[in-house]
Amino acid sequence: MSLPADYHMHTPLCRHAVGEPVEYARRALEAGLTEIGFSDHSPMAREDFDAWRMFDRQLDEYVASVRQAQSAFPELTIRLALEVDYLPGQEEWIRSLAARHPWDYFIGSVHYISNAWAIDDPGKLSEWNGRDPGAVWTLYFERLTQAAASGLFDILGHVDLPKKFGHRLGKDCSSLYQTFLAAAKQSGCAIELNTAGLRKPCKEIYPSLEILKLARQHDVGITFGSDAHAPGDVGMDFAGAVALARQAGYSETCRFNRRQRESVRF
Ligand code: ZN
Ligand code: FE
Ligand code: FE
Ligand code: ZN
Repeated sequence: MSLPADYHMHTPLCRHAVGEPVEYARRALEAGLTEIGFSDHSPMAREDFDAWRMFDRQLDEYVASVRQAQSAFPELTIRLALEVDYLPGQEEWIRSLAARHPWDYFIGSVHYISNAWAIDDPGKLSEWNGRDPGAVWTLYFERLTQAAASGLFDILGHVDLPKKFGHRLGKDCSSLYQTFLAAAKQSGCAIELNTAGLRKPCKEIYPSLEILKLARQHDVGITFGSDAHAPGDVGMDFAGAVALARQAGYSETCRFNRRQRESVRF
C-alpha cells in the first residue's frame, strides 16, 4: 500500500513559492511518493489581476520546468496541472488555458468571493471585520457549487477554505455542503484533502471530517495535496490525511492522466 499522489504543488513562477520543480520531485522521492503533480496558480487574462500567480507569457516556461523534472526523475510519475481560480465570467479564459497544453488535471479553487477579495489572503484579513461570517461562507459555497457545475475542473481545491483564519460558523452548514457535493458528483469532480490547513490558523486539513463524510455519501472522489510552496512541504502530513480519509469511509483515491480519471486503492 503506497502513499497517495501529492497533486497540489507550486513553483516560484507564482511569486510566493520557492524551489524548482526538480527539487520538489527529489523531495517527493525521499518522502516515499511514487506520483506527484504540479498545480501552480494559473495566469489570469488581466496581468495586473493580483500579485500571486504566473504571467500568461510564462505558461510555456512553467510547462518546460515540469518537463525538466519529468526527465530528471523518470522513476517518479509527474503530472502537469494548474490550480485555476474560478470566478464567474472567466469560463472562456479557463477553456482557452485548457486548450494550450496537454494538462493532466485542473484544480478549480475559489479564493475570490468578489473581484477584489481573496478570502485566504493574509493581507486582506481586515476584510473579514464587520462581515457576517455566515454570509461569506454562503457566497463562497455558491461560487464553489458553480465551479463544480461548470465542468471545467477535475478536482476542487481546499473546499472549506473560509475556515483558514478561524472564521467558523455557529450554525449548521450541511445544506450548503450537500448542494455543492451533489454538483461535484454530477460533473464528476473530485475534492482534495489539502494538508496545508494544518499549517494555517485553523490547524485542520481542508476539508473537515463532516464534509468528507458527506462527500463519501455522495460518492464524490478524493485526491490528496500538500499545497507545497517549498520542497520541504511535499507529502507533508499525508499519514494524517490518509487516516482522515479512511475515517470518512474512503479507501480509493483518484489519479489523472490527460484529464482521464481512474481510481486506485490507498
Ligand atoms: Zn499559493
Ligand atoms: Fe488555493
Ligand atoms: Fe495551491
Ligand atoms: Zn491552494
